[in-house]
Amino acid sequence: LTAMYQRILMLMLFALLVSAVLAVLLSLLMAKRFSEPLHEITTVVQDMAGGNLKRRISPNQGIDELRLLAGAYNDMAENIEQGVSDLNEVKNRLEAVLNNTVNGILMVDAEGKISYANPAALVLLGMQADIIGHNKTEVIKNYAILETIDQVKSELKPVRNELMLHHLGGKTVEINIVPILNAARTNQGVLVVLNDISELKKLEQVRKDFVANVSHELKTPVAAISGFAETLLDEEGENPATVMEFSRIIYDEAQRLTSLINGLLELSRLEAEKAEVNILSVDIDKVLRSTLMLAQRQPNSQKVTLEYIPAASQPVIASDADLIVQVISNLLDNAIKYSPSGGTAQLQLEDYEKMVRINVIDTGIGIPAQELPRIFERFYRVDKARSRKTGGSGLGLAIVKHLVEQLGGQVTVESKLGEGSVFSVILPKA
Ligand code: ADP
Repeated sequence: LTAMYQRILMLMLFALLVSAVLAVLLSLLMAKRFSEPLHEITTVVQDMAGGNLKRRISPNQGIDELRLLAGAYNDMAENIEQGVSDLNEVKNRLEAVLNNTVNGILMVDAEGKISYANPAALVLLGMQADIIGHNKTEVIKNYAILETIDQVKSELKPVRNELMLHHLGGKTVEINIVPILNAARTNQGVLVVLNDISELKKLEQVRKDFVANVSHELKTPVAAISGFAETLLDEEGENPATVMEFSRIIYDEAQRLTSLINGLLELSRLEAEKAEVNILSVDIDKVLRSTLMLAQRQPNSQKVTLEYIPAASQPVIASDADLIVQVISNLLDNAIKYSPSGGTAQLQLEDYEKMVRINVIDTGIGIPAQELPRIFERFYRVDKARSRKTGGSGLGLAIVKHLVEQLGGQVTVESKLGEGSVFSVILPKA
């Protein structure tokens, strides 16, 4: 009996051993099925934490639950990657705008430290590139700006100012300073936007000067006309010689008014819409000869001898003959006006490889060197009294300059006081 018990015991022990071994094997197998995918998932998640958003978990995991987890993780990684790339794009676009805008943009934080400055702001405020984190009083050297920043910080209201920046040769800058507020309406610093408006200011000044000049120029002839007309009306039956003289003056002044108004209309037309340029083949020699003949027929031209000096060749250029006639007539007219009786004026053509040069040479009164840079300005006259006597409006050379530039050329002047002047028009051949 004991032997039978012993056998049963042995059998049971054996069965226990076998089942234990089986259990160990089974659990090893199960652990392997879990631990390998878990290991992969762990390394991928660690990678993502480190910033690599490209990695994904392979979707064929041994167990359903892990497969679901892998799918969810992959979707999440996809979304995050898309979100980050969208954000990057917005950031790059914003950076490109801020770096390339002509407006200076500067941010000062609540502690008064510079937190951002774009390149335009650095230039406008004359600052170095490494100013981020510095206190504003260290880097902004303009007292008015610093004061306005403090004002905006304390009043929490935007302020607009205009400033002269002397370190940039007197540029005028419009400066807008706005408070940056958070949801609780407490101050987070200020945003400074700088705008260079020098060009605008200059234009405004030119416009003001122009209106003042025009009014002044119109006033003189109108005053003369009404003055002399009044005298004529008052003194009925005056002697015919006086009546004749006064009428002459009135006529001359009216002529001057007409030429002034025509000049103004011409200039404003040129500035508004550009001259109508009709580019054709132009035999420049022929055009100059006929312009000279036209000038010779003008009243008052007899006192000056006009000569033509042709070029060795007969160049043909692509240009607008009508505009050239207008330019050269104007210059010849001046050469005659500003020469004493008995003088000579020459019209000269020079032919070069890519251009022609037309010189109008006179032996007249000349122009003082310091006046030369200004004579092409509207209304600029060296000797107002003399120009007025000859019916000048001071607009002729301004129109000449405009027309020559429309033709792609250049007009220059050389002159010696008391000896004469040379006006040169250079026109491209093509
Ligand atoms: P204006 O109608 O007064 O002649 P322009 O614009 O033609 O006006 O010329 C401007 C000024 O330039 C003239 O008033 C004159 O002082 C000077 N100027 C122009 N051409 C000559 C010249 N050939 N010789 C001397 N001065 C000249």
